Amino acid sequence: PSPADPSARRRALPHRRLGRSGLRLPTISLGLWQNFGEADPQATQREIVLHAVERGVTHLDLANNYGPPGGAAEESMGRLVARELRPVRDELVITTKAGYRMGPGPYGEGGSRKYLLSSLDASLRRLGLDHVDIFYSHRFDPTTPLTETVGALATAVRSGRARYAGISSYSARRTREALEVAARLGVDLVVTQVSYSMLNRWVEEPDPHDPAGASVLDVAGSEGLGVVAFSPLAQGMLTDRYLDGVPAGSRAARGGPLRQSFLSEENLGHVRRLHALAREHGRSLATTAILWAMRDERVTSVLLGASSTQQLDDNLAALDAPALSPEEVAAVEALPAD
Ligand code: NDP
Repeated sequence: PSPADPSARRRALPHRRLGRSGLRLPTISLGLWQNFGEADPQATQREIVLHAVERGVTHLDLANNYGPPGGAAEESMGRLVARELRPVRDELVITTKAGYRMGPGPYGEGGSRKYLLSSLDASLRRLGLDHVDIFYSHRFDPTTPLTETVGALATAVRSGRARYAGISSYSARRTREALEVAARLGVDLVVTQVSYSMLNRWVEEPDPHDPAGASVLDVAGSEGLGVVAFSPLAQGMLTDRYLDGVPAGSRAARGGPLRQSFLSEENLGHVRRLHALAREHGRSLATTAILWAMRDERVTSVLLGASSTQQLDDNLAALDAPALSPEEVAAVEALPAD
């Protein structure tokens, strides 16, 4: 069945409201950071995205620099939109970002108005769209005034190139500041996208630079900002993928951003303990990791990656499993990290 065929219309996934906005996101989203480069087979890319949409994963996350090379993932998505997804475009939330290095020179990265808006225009050209649903400042830029960065996001929304605006990987203090600037400019920031997993809990930690010493999750919760949690599987470490070594074709084997050094004996020991605990409760490690990241209602959606439709299906199975009990959460958190 084609995703454009209404008779094949998918079972809706559970949705959560993105902070105080009117936008609802499926609790599981798909990102195109890895596996959507020029060297990755187009047929597999197509299969994964169309399968995701059929299964109700209607939030697809991109950035200008996803590939490699940068721009390749958006071009691939653009081909899928042009050939198959156009009829259901309004049922999808397609997002992009700018902030990391994308081009040469001073206008090829950062948070300037010059870079953000020209990058957004280039993203829209690659995607073949007249708007994205969320445009993000991909990272805080200490060399650009926040009024300029957030002002560029406001322009993106007011000009119709983006339906909503967001920030990514901002500390609690910078998140609070960005929200204050946005309020002054009369624009809504609706979401922060942050890394979050059983192995990476920085968003729970108090920020010593925040005036209230709050964490990112606290600021988001009190200010009504939605949270999209990326890399909930710690790039594959929180699955059974690396329990018996580094398999051929995996992200670590490909020399990707998941470096083999992350798979130190200490880290693997921790992963094996988490795996054993998940099995005690009759779950896979991936299911436990996904349910753990979404146990907090302030997290709107967990944003994962997949190199096959099988992985995606395995991960979606988490939504059919009972939520983690408080005892299970406590047991996960009591495990020694090394
Ligand atoms: P995950 O933690 O979900 O890791 C995904 C990887 O884990 C897959 O590519 C696959 O690796 C492996 N995997 C997934 N499911 C399974 C399974 N069931 N069994 C075994 N292995 C599995 O997330 P990502 O790190 O991929 O990040 C997800 C998205 O988050 C990105 O695509 C991007 O959209 C966003 N992101 C945003 C960032 C930001 O700065 N805002 C930064 C990083 C990510 P393998 O390839 O080895 O098969």
